[in-house]
Amino acid sequence: MKPEFDLKAHVRHVPDFPKPGILFYDISTLLINPEAWRETVDRLKVAIEPYKPHKLVGIESRGFLVSAPLAYLLGIGFVMVRKRGKLPGEIIRHSYDLEYGQDVVEVQADAIQPGERVVVLDDLLATGGTMGAAIQLLRGVGAEVVAAASIIELTFLAGRARLDVPFSTILSYD
Ligand code: 5GP
Repeated sequence: MKPEFDLKAHVRHVPDFPKPGILFYDISTLLINPEAWRETVDRLKVAIEPYKPHKLVGIESRGFLVSAPLAYLLGIGFVMVRKRGKLPGEIIRHSYDLEYGQDVVEVQADAIQPGERVVVLDDLLATGGTMGAAIQLLRGVGAEVVAAASIIELTFLAGRARLDVPFSTILSYD
């Protein structure tokens, strides 16, 4: 049997980024290694394929990195969920609360047809606030959100419990 590829060995831990006291899980070191990145995308493909999505949705910006190659591999469309003011044309917006203040996610109104099955992807799930907001936004344009996924899940923050769709990950930290 093929030995399990140690993907965690390619995630760099950066203390005190972006603020003192925060440990940042840096996926740059996964992206820079072709075997590690291929393994990452391949494992997520296995997790997502059973949901038979019509489209994949990536959350700005590291979510784009993983969802665009997956959409290509699955032969389906890729849709961007972006921060405020980045997308042209008719926009649907969803505001959500942060620890201090509010943030906004946006999608183009015609990106998803009502009833289309979508899977939402990001690089990392922490509190689940960002992913939860993206799911609400997509429902606002009539999407059927069939699953969510990320490369990394910080299980100690229990973000998964805030999501009301099945959630898949390939690297858990607790
Ligand atoms: P949440 O909304 O789940 O608390 O935070 C997840 C969002 O913040 C994701 O969009 C993710 O890109 C970003 N994020 C938070 N912490 C980290 C981290 O340690 N590493 C990376 N790569 N992204 C993070």
